[in-house]
Order: sequence, then structure tokens, then C-alpha cells
Amino acid sequence: MSNKERYILPSLSEGRKRSRNEKDVIYGASSALDALSDVGIGKKYYIRTYGCQANVRDGETLAGMLEMMGYEKTDNEREADVLIFNTCAVRQAAEERVFGEIGSLKKFRMDNPDKIICMCGCMPQEEVVVERILNQYPQVDLVFGTHNIYRFPELLKQVLEERQRVIEVISEEGRVFEDLPVRRSTQGKAFVNIMYGCDKFCTYCIVPYTRGTERSRKIEDILKEVKSLQEKDYKEVILLGQNVNAYGKDLGMEDGFTDLLIACAETGIERIRFYTSHPRDYSISTIEAMKKYPNIMKSLHLPVQSGNNEILKRMNRGYTRERYFELFDDMKERIPEITFTTDLIVGFPGETEEEFLDTLSLVDHCQFDMAYSFVYSPRSGTPAANMQDDVSAEEKKDRLFRLNEKLAKYANEKNQAYVGKLVKVLCEGSSKKNKDVYTGYSEENKLVNFTGPKGLENQIVEVEITEAHSFSLDGKALV
Ligand code: SF4
Repeated sequence: MSNKERYILPSLSEGRKRSRNEKDVIYGASSALDALSDVGIGKKYYIRTYGCQANVRDGETLAGMLEMMGYEKTDNEREADVLIFNTCAVRQAAEERVFGEIGSLKKFRMDNPDKIICMCGCMPQEEVVVERILNQYPQVDLVFGTHNIYRFPELLKQVLEERQRVIEVISEEGRVFEDLPVRRSTQGKAFVNIMYGCDKFCTYCIVPYTRGTERSRKIEDILKEVKSLQEKDYKEVILLGQNVNAYGKDLGMEDGFTDLLIACAETGIERIRFYTSHPRDYSISTIEAMKKYPNIMKSLHLPVQSGNNEILKRMNRGYTRERYFELFDDMKERIPEITFTTDLIVGFPGETEEEFLDTLSLVDHCQFDMAYSFVYSPRSGTPAANMQDDVSAEEKKDRLFRLNEKLAKYANEKNQAYVGKLVKVLCEGSSKKNKDVYTGYSEENKLVNFTGPKGLENQIVEVEITEAHSFSLDGKALV
């Protein structure tokens, strides 16, 4: 690569700014790709995605664009002509892993000057990350962020033709791009973005800075995508947003998420799920819609993060422990069969043992089907990173251990109750661990590994549960 370089660098303070109007929906964003359709003929690409489903969906867009350019997918990074690290900025440890993996490719890249290494996703939205790339990782040829993913083909072409390193990260964004190509990564179920960004500014979270202002797709564009998936025999859609309950607020809709959910249910697609909900914006109408429509799955991921009011306040979560219980109990009363999962953080700055015990008692009350638990990870640029972190590493580790023990106990108890029962599983194909066993998720969002005759992929199959573990069920198909 020559020393010609082109940089547009990120700024987290610009990322804080909020602006949005409806004119910012851009249609036909893929038409420019026609001119690039032969760039990748005879070449291969490899994408490694980290983090949440929003990133998985972005990875599908990148794959769609690369295939429109003529590239073919490979699962072997060493034979790829273009390697993409589609990154997540939520935790420091995940960032270090990405740097470790890119670091290990230095010699490989230097020995193969025609290979292109790209970094995109949330990490490049942070100044410190781009600075580190500039100073220590010359093997990275192209860096772009979450807001200009649509520019990827053009940027890649610049890198290839002009032999220059390109860094283009835009920090403040209020636009929605429609009609970008997509190569779906899952069989039978598909991720559908309903909105982008987040305006909640929880004090520990970097997402409002890296993904910009909340901006909803128009309901008609979402329904068009859902109907087209249905026509292609997809059985399940997963509606995605950082905070789905806020859907439509920026478009002036009063109860936008419920309206959208009902409209999706009325398309008749077999299964609908949604991630992620926020307890702050939950409306009773959403719970009633879940109850009324059999194709809206009765499983809810409702992150609580902490069971202590003082910590919730310092996290800027916008609800109390009592409000969470009210919501949780109300949902259980209206939909008794509903399953619940959540996210929990231990060791938030200043968390005392008593405050942590409130989290344990919240878990005792809710008895979640499953939970993702984390030790607090400071993110530079967020308010919590400036709070005094006086919980020792040892205490954090101990709290996580005690929390996980409790979570595993309830998860196991919940799963044991399924033994001998029948569940409906959307078969996603063979399990990664055992090719002779199928895998998929039940309506209750339980991971089920099961045996059955050939040809069940992409079908909803009745499965009898024979054994239960803390995080999965085993069974046999009744076909
Ligand atoms: S709701 Fe809070 S935790 Fe979730 S993405 Fe927004 S700021 Fe982050």
C-alpha cells in the first residue's frame, strides 16, 4: 500500500448530537452498486461479526454488497481477498480480542499485499480506536463506521484502485438507507431492522454515541420487507432496534411499536420476535397485542441491569425496581406462559454489597428463564467512565459468580419443567457440535437440540423434550 491516505476521523462528542427529520430516508441506495458489479469477480470475502444482532444484520448487508460486486463468500479467512472485522464497542474485553486478531494478521497481510483488511461497526466510532489503528496497525487498509456502511463498496474500490489507506468515519447521523442488498445468514428466520440508534444515554453505554440518534424506518418499508420474507418462505422475523418500544416516536407516532407489531402479525407470518425492549417505554397495548396474536411469540427479553434503585438511577435507566416488578408481574398475569430473559451488570462504580444483594433478590422474584450477566466494563467517553470505580476486581468476580449460580439454578428449574412436553421448534439445520442432531428455537425461545428424519430444515417441527439442561433442551421430532 502506498503512503497516500485519506482520513475522516470520528468524534464521540459529535456522536452525542441529535438531529433528524423525515426527509432523511434514502431510497434506492444500492443502485450505485451496478457500476461496481465486476470489482470482485474471482475473489473471496470473509466477515467476522462481533456483538449484537444489529451487527449481525449489518454483516448481512456487507455480504450482500460484496456479492453484488462479484465476491464469493469463504469460511477460511486465510483464502479471503477481503477480510472484514465487523466490531462491537460495548465491552473492553471484546475490543481487545479484535485488536489481538487483527494483530495476528500483520505478517499474513504484509506477505500478501493484495489482501485487504477492513474494520467497521461500532469500534471505529471511538477516537481512541482509530488512533490506535493509525499508530499501531498498518495492516488495516479500510476503516468505516456504522453510519456510512452504504459507502463500503465505493471505499473498497478506492483502496483497491488507488492503493491508499482509507479511514472514513462519520459521527453524527440521522439518516435511514433503504434497499441496500442483503445476504441473509440464517435459514428460516430473518433479522429486520425497524429502527437505528438510541437516545436513552444509559451512563455506562457507548451505543448512543456509536449508532447515533433514534431513527425509525417507515412502517410501509418494514411491512414490505416482512411480506417479501414471507414470500421467500421465511417462517420467523426478528424485529430489531436498540430500544424497540421507542419505535415511531421520531415519526410522530403515538403508539408506534404496538401499531407495527399488530401490522406485522396481520401479515400472517408464522413467528414474530423483537429485540431489545426497554422497561421505560413499555405500554400495556404492546402486552395486549402479544396476548392477542398467536404469531407474536410469548417470550420477552427485558433488560433490567440492576435490582437496586440507587444503581438504576446512576445508570440513568429511567425506572425503579418497583416499576420493573409491576411490569413483570403484569405481563405474567396477562400472559401466564410468557418466558423472560434479561441482562444484568455487576460491579457498577460504587456498587455496595447491599446494593448487589438487591440484584440477587430481584432475580429471586423474577426467576428468569435465562440471563446475560456481565461485569461492568468502563467505556471511555461515557459518564460512568468518570465515576469512581471502587469495587475491586475480586469483588466483581465474586458477585458475578454468585449471580451466575442463582441464574443457572432458575434456568435449570424452568427447563426441567419441559421434560415430557411437546414444543414447536423452527429447525435451523444441524447443530455445530453434532451433525446428526438438529438445532432450533421453540416458541418460548428455548434452544432445542433434537433428532429426527432427514429434511426438516426450515420447518416448524413438533419435538418431544426428553432431557433438560440449564441452557438447552434435548428432544426427538414427532414426524
Ligand atoms: S437503552 Fe441504554 S443500554 Fe440500551 S443501547 Fe440505549 S443507552 Fe445503551
